Amino acid sequence: MLKFTDLTLPEPLQRAAADLNFVKPTSVQELTIPWLLDNDKDLITIAQTGTGKTAAFGFPVLSLTDIEKKAVQTLILCPTRELCLQIAGDFEVYAKYMPRIKTVAIYGGAPIYKQKELLKSGAHIVVGTPGRVFDMIRQEVLKVDHIACLVLDEADEMLNMGFKEDLFSIMSHTPKEKQTLLFSATMPKEVAKLAQTFMKDPHRITTGNEKQGAENISHFFYRVSARDKYLALKRIADMSPKIYGIIFCRTRNETQEIADKLQQDGYNADALHGDLSQGQRELVMSRFRSKYVRLLVATDVAARGLDVDDLTHIINFHAPLEPDIYIHRSGRTGRAGKSGISITIVHAKEIAALKAIENRLGREITFAKVPTGRDICEKQLFNFIDTVERVEIDSVQIESFLPSVYKKLGWMTREELIQRFVSVEFNRFLNYYKDNFDLDQPEEKRTRESKQSFTFKTFRLSIGANQQLNKRELMRYINKLKVARSIEIGQIDIYKDYCLVDLDARYEEQLLKAIPRNKVLGIPILVEVENPTKRNKGRQIRG
Ligand code: ADP
Ligand code: MG
Repeated sequence: MLKFTDLTLPEPLQRAAADLNFVKPTSVQELTIPWLLDNDKDLITIAQTGTGKTAAFGFPVLSLTDIEKKAVQTLILCPTRELCLQIAGDFEVYAKYMPRIKTVAIYGGAPIYKQKELLKSGAHIVVGTPGRVFDMIRQEVLKVDHIACLVLDEADEMLNMGFKEDLFSIMSHTPKEKQTLLFSATMPKEVAKLAQTFMKDPHRITTGNEKQGAENISHFFYRVSARDKYLALKRIADMSPKIYGIIFCRTRNETQEIADKLQQDGYNADALHGDLSQGQRELVMSRFRSKYVRLLVATDVAARGLDVDDLTHIINFHAPLEPDIYIHRSGRTGRAGKSGISITIVHAKEIAALKAIENRLGREITFAKVPTGRDICEKQLFNFIDTVERVEIDSVQIESFLPSVYKKLGWMTREELIQRFVSVEFNRFLNYYKDNFDLDQPEEKRTRESKQSFTFKTFRLSIGANQQLNKRELMRYINKLKVARSIEIGQIDIYKDYCLVDLDARYEEQLLKAIPRNKVLGIPILVEVENPTKRNKGRQIRG
């Protein structure tokens, strides 16, 4: 087993690696570091995200930097501000025992004058986004005509983001004699073309990590009709109460739309895409890293700068058209020896794309049935019960409250108490999935009524037990109103001189019109929609 200390790196870098707990080089480092220490030819390294590429070029670049030379020696280009800061930050850490080496980060979306100051005070290594770098070259604040090494990190993403022109312009300012290193997770045609234009007979390193990494990733697909994708997504999320994942969408619009819907439906979700301001993006990412946001809806480009280790799920809202993109996305889960799940939600026309992915992956993507409402309720219930069983009780803190709580709840039986406290957590799922349909079934097999889910509204009618009203009478009355072919009736509570009844909220308007026109037991009725919180209070008083 090759150790980090076996790489012939200078002692200060060895110490920094040891501080970082880099014991064993990753495969890309094992292949790249020794080669770069011995060669000054061009290099292309293809390896997926999270395989340690920054250190693979960072350690050799640092060890080959000449501190005495007062000029930029290495220019590193990367697609986003986050990556730029990440790489510069990593370099600081690697070079902590080489304090005289200066690395400067320059990127858009931040005041240019500060970055100019930093450059003027001298930098050996510059990490930048192409747009800002070219700006600074044009303004003659940044001189790259003597660099020895040019690094293109995430080359595929830089091209995806439309930095091609800037890259060409920057290259034209660099010297002919230099070493160019290209790092990329995937190798689409555009990257190959870029390499052909700017690199001389490059050496190639490709790591087999993709397939190794895939061992602990399970691949599933769900097949639904195109317009049920969102419903399927929610069920998948509901089926995994501890989900922490990224949902990949195609466009910025779609990303935002799905994140909005998820938020409205009560999930801790947020969107990450290129239309957000820098500040917004940073906020979303930090909320996701801290796991406050559990579902991040993102485009490929926006998710690039995000290095998160313990994702449970990667969800493809569509089958990606390029197999490499699938492999790259799914490689974000199942890291550090943990298991991960990669899910693709497809409709009939996407099956072919899935086949292409399977071929590239060398593994089968397993068909899975969309969980039913019952499956989900059961899963959530047991998850909740499990949490209750494991919860740590802080006796000291709650002691003083307990006597009055015991007193208040003392009238309930054990079973009743359990039912109620389960319901507190669980009503959302029970109601939502009440009679929800099977998404795997073709649409024509589903009943019409169950196609849409609905919520109940509570209606208060001015008749009660004093007027001899009972539940059966009330139900007969509601059905006689004929506001719908068959209207769903929920909970009914009859009080002395009024009653509360839960009815399908979609028919609110019709009900408010029809009820005053129809008598119950010969008595004219007043009706209003009841405030839900009031209703709960009413129940407690009754108890
Ligand atoms: P990439 O650029 O390939 O996406 P990074 O360079 O961002 O990957 O590294 C991913 C993570 O792996 C980082 O958190 C980094 O600190 C860690 N890492 C890199 N090399 C090693 C190593 N040899 N041992 C342990 N962790 C490592
Ligand atoms: Mg990287």
